Amino acid sequence: MRAPPTAAGTTQLANVRPGASRPAASAADQMSASALDAGVGTPAPRAHRAASTTTGSVPGADCAREVISVACREKRAAECYPHDRGMDIDIGIPIGKARRPILTYGTYPFLLVATIAVLVGTVHNGWDPDKVMGLLALGTIIVTFVVERLNPLRTEWQMTKDRLIHRDLPFIGLAVIVEQLLQVAAQYVAIHLVPPGGFGLLAKLPLIGQIIFALIATDLLWYAYHRTAHTWGSLWRFHSVHHSPSQVYVFVHQVFHPMDLFFSRFVVTLLAMSFTGISPMAAFCAIVIINLQQTVSHMNSDQRVGWLNYILIGTETHRYHHSALHRGNYSSAIPLWDQVFGTFVYRPREIPGRLGLDDPSQYPDPRKFHRTLAWPFSPSLVGTGGDEAA
Ligand SMILES: [Zn+2]
Ligand SMILES: [Zn+2]
Repeated sequence: MRAPPTAAGTTQLANVRPGASRPAASAADQMSASALDAGVGTPAPRAHRAASTTTGSVPGADCAREVISVACREKRAAECYPHDRGMDIDIGIPIGKARRPILTYGTYPFLLVATIAVLVGTVHNGWDPDKVMGLLALGTIIVTFVVERLNPLRTEWQMTKDRLIHRDLPFIGLAVIVEQLLQVAAQYVAIHLVPPGGFGLLAKLPLIGQIIFALIATDLLWYAYHRTAHTWGSLWRFHSVHHSPSQVYVFVHQVFHPMDLFFSRFVVTLLAMSFTGISPMAAFCAIVIINLQQTVSHMNSDQRVGWLNYILIGTETHRYHHSALHRGNYSSAIPLWDQVFGTFVYRPREIPGRLGLDDPSQYPDPRKFHRTLAWPFSPSLVGTGGDEAA
């Protein structure tokens, strides 16, 4: 399901996944003190960027301005987590010491080094890119899944049998099929329009230069699409599917509406990987790196990588994109464009208080698969707004 270059030298479409998010669970669900795992400490409210603009009439504003009490957390949680649309307060939860430091600090670097080592081996030994991409994808999912179980961040955000089977699995299954079809379509277009070795000046750059360019170009296109998908109602209704789970765990990286996949994995990838003139090997390497980021970034695990967050999107930054009361971190693999356009969010000492949609009641129940798929096409929705928190 990932798209490596073909023997003919053309670029296939890959599992380029966008960021996404905005779920909404009940306040009590999100604030249950017993649910704090993996070094997550006592919830403390914070009034973020628009704190000064809130008024005394805003529910929960008092809670947000001072250290929250146990009573406020456990008995008045609803007041502390107002669901008002447009409410610009996020009550972050501070995190303490890592309980399993090796898994917390070592998982992402290990996967990154292992992936780069395999890419170097593929370039120098001529390994089959299709097989390498498939095996790397499988290996990454296995490692992240195991680490997620061994070192979870919050129990409330864990994958459960019920959530996977009755809510997310239909979307995941459909995404796998749609990706395969889009890969074939992208390959067909590339075969007819792109020379086997790439074209233009970019194809003459060293491989590492082409890979870096591919990552920057892909993320610029993705950033533009993704941010638009959060602000333009017609696209947001498709993209909101990715934000509908109130929990973010590894397999959520495949929860998408097929139309969202079409824009993100066909249009963006085809433009960035095929029409820029980079070589198929450069496109393959860039796609593998993007796939790694996309999988790691959805882990419900206590992952901390410090300065690496400023170079690569990961668990800590993409989790904030899935915050119910925040928006930011629209990038897919590298946070460059978020930093350029002022939407980069990195808070090393806390995690979002709530994940998912800001107001789930405004959206179809994601457990109703067919209704969720059809909802964005409803004529009654034409002209309605997008993701207000964006
Ligand atoms: Zn998004
Ligand atoms: Zn996401």
